[in-house]
Amino acid sequence: MIPETVEREESAEEIAYRKDLARWISTHLPDKPSFHLPQSFLEVESTEQCEFLRAWQAELYAAGYLGIDVPRAYGGHEGESWKQRIVAQELIRAGAPTLLNVVGLRMAMPTILTHGTEEQKQRYVQKILSAEEIWCQGFSEPNAGSDLASVQTFVKRDGDAWIANGHKIWTTLGQFADFMILLARTDKDASKHGGLSYFLMPMKAPGVDVRPLVKMTREATFNQVHIEDVAMPLDALLGQLGHGWQVAMTTLMFERGAAGGSERDLHAAFEEMIARLTDLAKRTRRGRTRRIDDPLIRDALAALATEVEAIRHHITRARIPQLLDHPMAIPLMGKLMGSELMMRLHRLGQDILGPSATQWMDSPAAVDGGTWQLAFGNAYGPIIGGGTSEIQKNIVGERVLGLAKG
Ligand SMILES: Cc1cc2nc3c(=O)[nH]c(=O)nc-3n(C[C@H](O)[C@H](O)[C@H](O)COP(=O)(O)OP(=O)(O)OC[C@H]3O[C@@H](n4cnc5c(N)ncnc54)[C@H](O)[C@@H]3O)c2cc1C
Repeated sequence: MIPETVEREESAEEIAYRKDLARWISTHLPDKPSFHLPQSFLEVESTEQCEFLRAWQAELYAAGYLGIDVPRAYGGHEGESWKQRIVAQELIRAGAPTLLNVVGLRMAMPTILTHGTEEQKQRYVQKILSAEEIWCQGFSEPNAGSDLASVQTFVKRDGDAWIANGHKIWTTLGQFADFMILLARTDKDASKHGGLSYFLMPMKAPGVDVRPLVKMTREATFNQVHIEDVAMPLDALLGQLGHGWQVAMTTLMFERGAAGGSERDLHAAFEEMIARLTDLAKRTRRGRTRRIDDPLIRDALAALATEVEAIRHHITRARIPQLLDHPMAIPLMGKLMGSELMMRLHRLGQDILGPSATQWMDSPAAVDGGTWQLAFGNAYGPIIGGGTSEIQKNIVGERVLGLAKG
């Protein structure tokens, strides 16, 4: 099976690291709590979920399994980056709880490390790694999503402070966050892109009002954030005034995986899904027939397992620059392919369940507590969040393939 193939290609050092890590995970994995654990950071709803996941992230960090490739000066462990990839894979294989502070780890931290002053790196990075401070992303607005440069939230200088006013939407983790990466307009007369700046806004400051939004899954995991005369210190500005668009592009590169972030755990997550779907098809029946014995289900499973194998080769190719006509070609496709494939895997879960897929989490008869249905509903999130599939296709078409702008 695929894991052995991956391990055979690894060096003795990598294999030894993986084994040590697997041993550590097996002895430190927290017991399942009595409440429902979110399957990703996009689904954290309650304080008890948040605190459980915060403690787990802190433990991983303290053990040296987070921030491996981050400089020691900022709280990292300054090790080789392949170790972080192995950690991500093994956590998924062990069914470990999700990381909580993903906006911090994958978006704010790399952006601060790229554009921040020495003081900003010292101030923020370590507390992101340890989950002491939770971050959210304040990019989208009611009239600025795909067309992000249209943001209207306005920040003006007033003496020794920046004063922010505006309205952000779809803010994941906003109800728990200590800081927001905020894209805002600072010059109404400048060009659409040139008038933007990027701030690190304290979420507990007076004037920040977080209001939950309920998704179709009935979970309230993202929010509207109303910002009214919120005062920020002068060093809340990240990068130069008026250069917010360039700073935001760094964030989006990491968010969309084009900077090598999300590929780390992509394949392990798919592999795990194929194994879980196979198990589900063996456990469930339509009439007297096990779902795994239905040729249509077997065909669908085999087709998706083949795609998962293709993703493995895709990830390997993305690591070999000589194979890429355009340096961003394969990494840019990662988010598009990954989120769409995950959605199809979850849809097959619904097909396997058949009529019982209509039973929601509160039904005692729901298979596996209705978590397959919940995960299917939530699989739409990554197709939209961080840039929709249509936008990703436009980017690949225009920037990589050189097609005419639509
Ligand atoms: C689960 C989830 C979590 C999120 N978390 C956050 C968060 O924490 N912080 C944050 O800032 N945002 C967050 N978002 C918001 C997300 O980034 C936006 O929803 C996304 O960028 C799309 O913007 P929109 O919703 O305004 O849709 P629109 O931009 O209005 O698009 C509507 C439809 O039109 C299509 N479309 C738009 N323009 C084009 C075009 N040029 N060519 C082809 N098709 C086009 C889109 O693909 C889409 O299907 C989250 C979204 C989801 C679903």
